[in-house]
Amino acid sequence: MAFSPITEESHVEYGFHRNLRKEYPEIVSAKGNYLYTSENRQIFDACGGAAVSCLGYGHERVIQAMYKQSLTGVTYLASSFWASPVVKDLCKELIQGTNGEMARVYLTGSGSEAMEAAIKLSRQFFYEKNKDTPRVNFIARENSYHGNTIGALSVSGFITRRQPYIPFLMDNVHHISSCYPYRQQEEGESDAAFVTRKATELDNKFRELGPETVIGFIAEPVVGAALGCVPYVPGYLKAMRDVCHKYGALFILDEVMCGSGRTGTLHAWQAEGIVPDIQTMAKGLGGGYQPIAAMLLSQKVVKTIMEGSGQFIHGLTYQAMPIQAAAALEVQRIIREENLLEKVTRRGTALGALLKKFLAEHPNVGDIRGGGLFWGIEFVKDKRTKQPFPPEVGISQKILELAISPQFNMTFYPGTGSVDGIQGDHIILAPPFNITNEDVDNIVTVVVAVIQLVFSEMA
Ligand code: PLP
Repeated sequence: MAFSPITEESHVEYGFHRNLRKEYPEIVSAKGNYLYTSENRQIFDACGGAAVSCLGYGHERVIQAMYKQSLTGVTYLASSFWASPVVKDLCKELIQGTNGEMARVYLTGSGSEAMEAAIKLSRQFFYEKNKDTPRVNFIARENSYHGNTIGALSVSGFITRRQPYIPFLMDNVHHISSCYPYRQQEEGESDAAFVTRKATELDNKFRELGPETVIGFIAEPVVGAALGCVPYVPGYLKAMRDVCHKYGALFILDEVMCGSGRTGTLHAWQAEGIVPDIQTMAKGLGGGYQPIAAMLLSQKVVKTIMEGSGQFIHGLTYQAMPIQAAAALEVQRIIREENLLEKVTRRGTALGALLKKFLAEHPNVGDIRGGGLFWGIEFVKDKRTKQPFPPEVGISQKILELAISPQFNMTFYPGTGSVDGIQGDHIILAPPFNITNEDVDNIVTVVVAVIQLVFSEMA
């Protein structure tokens, strides 16, 4: 049987990668902070896609770096039997970015793959020391997202993404509460007391499971998609690390979304002055120019593998590809050479202050939180009780749809978290690191106008 030829109509909707009931605007080109639609609309991307495009689109230097690497003919290499200079350079750049606190880098193609690697390697860490190790359990958190593959989804606490797959998920993952002061910190409770409460909960979970059975604790320092930019309370990471180390378990941080400079330091943990045993990073690593993610390992972990089998029992075809590394290396060099972290902090402080100034009193804005260029706004039906809207109202989708309409031409990242088992709504703002003061003003003007309009139309 002959296939019918591809026509203008036929290539439109064979994709299966999004909501099949909807039509999506087509993007045909992009430059800087702007996406261009097939209808010639210019849309400002205020969320870098899914907090990915940290340098915006079409950055000349990154394109040239990828082109140069392509000209060598080495876009792909079987990483299990060849080395590549550009991959080595990227790993060196990443280790230097930790000031030598981390020792080795394992490259993958996506955040979920990096999390799978972290889950497996942390088990192997104990297996190297004792083949009969009783360490089989992970402790992770509610209201978290670590990826959609089975291991990563098992450690996630994202109810709606887990629900259909619960029978497949690992039963050795145990969730404790997240660090979510807006809904958890009691009236008059100090940050220090709140942190102690969280550390005690982790300690209790260790003791309930048997500390000798726990591999590690997994957390996002700033919760991304599952809650909308909820940062750790100062002291929290340190306190949780201390509990892990007290019981000889690993402290594992997922910086897939909040890392790579998004919060103003290259790694979110650097602001707390602690170092994880294992860390992942992804989105801002390649800035969307290539699919690339990484797992960074501390000396403690590397030493155990070195002294044991000498190899991580894992591997993927598309890992450590030179073309991915060329893009990520250039993105990371630009961030360093152009001192963009300082810009992230400055512009981010202004963005947060303006959002609070214009939206804090809005009756349906429950919370505005974040840091650097990573801000979340949570919406509530009732500001006093913090009750969220029912999911069927689709607040964050309504906000996105109005924002990307020809009236506003801007995009935010819509999200739903889970509040006591009920879906709550938020939006995330995560613009590129090189935005201007005018861009910040423009984002705030549109965000405020869209929120006001959506809720006034519902009143
Ligand atoms: N971890 C976090 C914190 C994330 O935000 C995500 C994706 O949004 C992932 C892991 C999974 O990454 P990916 O979608 O690249 O597989």
